[in-house]
Amino acid sequence: MATNFELMKLPYAEDALEPVISRQTISFHYGKHLQAYVNNLNSLLPGSSFEGMSLADIVKKSNGGVFNNAGQILNHELYFGQFCSPKANNVPAGEIAAAITRNFGSFDAFKEEFQKKGATLFGSGWVWLSADADGKLVITQEPNASNPAQRGLIPLLTFDVWEHAYYLDYQNRRPDHLSALWSIIDWNVVEQRYSVK
Ligand code: MN
Repeated sequence: MATNFELMKLPYAEDALEPVISRQTISFHYGKHLQAYVNNLNSLLPGSSFEGMSLADIVKKSNGGVFNNAGQILNHELYFGQFCSPKANNVPAGEIAAAITRNFGSFDAFKEEFQKKGATLFGSGWVWLSADADGKLVITQEPNASNPAQRGLIPLLTFDVWEHAYYLDYQNRRPDHLSALWSIIDWNVVEQRYSVK
C-alpha cells in the first residue's frame, strides 16, 4: 500500500504569531523545513517495511533516515499545532493547570524549569512536557528528531530549539525566544492532548 504523507495545514495565518514568531520564520520553518521532511519521508518509504504504516508507528519502529524525517514531521505537527495569536496573561486552565501545579509547585516554577531545559539543550533538539500513563507530568530534553512518544509518554507541549526555529528573529538569543513563546501557547490544545491520557 502506498503511503503519501502531506504537509499539515496551519490552524492560523502565517503572520498570526507576530511579533513572537515572524511571518518570515513561519514561511521558512513550516514552508521549507517541514515540507522537506515530508518530501524526504515520502521518497524513503516506497519498498520499505514502513510503507502503509501510520506516522506514529513509523516513529516508534524506525531508525536512521526514516526515523529522522518521520520524527521531525510528528514533532513539528505538535509544535505548529499548539500556537495561537499572542495573548496577555496567557495561562493554562482546568485539568492541565491543576496538573502543572501538582507536579511543579506553580505555573511560574514550571515555566522556569521548561525554559532552562530548552536553553541548556546542547545543539539541535526539543524540550517537551509529557504525561505518563498515570497522568504525571515530566519535562524532557530530546536530541535531534526524538519524541517522548518513543518511550510511551504522551507529548503535550514542545519548544523547538533547532536554530531554524528562531535564528531569523532572535539570532543567537535562544533564551529570549523561549521566554516569548509563552504568550502564543494555545492551552486549550495542550489540555486536549492531556485529556486523552
Ligand atoms: Mn523545527
